[in-house]
Amino acid sequence: MGSIELVQADITTLTVDAIVNAANSSLLGGGGVDGAIHRAAGPDLLKECRLLGGCEPGEAKVTAGYRLPARWVIHTVGPVWRGGRSGEEEVLRDCYRHSLEQMVRLRAASVAFPSISTGLYGYPVERAARVAVQEVQRHLAESPWPERVVFVAFDPATYEAYRALLEAPAG
Ligand code: ADP
Repeated sequence: MGSIELVQADITTLTVDAIVNAANSSLLGGGGVDGAIHRAAGPDLLKECRLLGGCEPGEAKVTAGYRLPARWVIHTVGPVWRGGRSGEEEVLRDCYRHSLEQMVRLRAASVAFPSISTGLYGYPVERAARVAVQEVQRHLAESPWPERVVFVAFDPATYEAYRALLEAPAG
């Protein structure tokens, strides 16, 4: 079964096959991790994104990584947190599931995820981390791809939320 790691880092610096972008539905760039990925990848990323026609929340679309160390960027659109009763959890699960399905399609070995929706979109980080870890563990139990999943925390509070879950006994 594939491995799960946790790092505190800037996702744009990581040498993995694919990094996941917490994009907005236009796919035309934004703040947070999306802005950082576009800055690091260079303008050709935006050119390719323009051809994709946007992305619905929970879906995932692939582009090249251009100047990034990663070969691919998987763009997914997380839910905006509206209190938790508007289907946010299901959409967040879909983000992880569809991103991982793209890894299977690409036959790609390693992927790094940011903490989708917990920045500007306001999803509580402990709840989002639980969804992320569950969906990744579920996928890895069933699929040979990817072999390696890296959760990327940008700040100590996010790191701690994931660490607590990843160190807890399964179940
Ligand atoms: P969303 O709109 O989905 O909430 P954000 O980009 O605002 O997306 O935030 C998602 C997470 O990504 C937050 O934890 C934020 O701190 C983190 N983040 C921001 N920049 C980077 C980066 N360069 N590398 C990794 N994570 C980042």
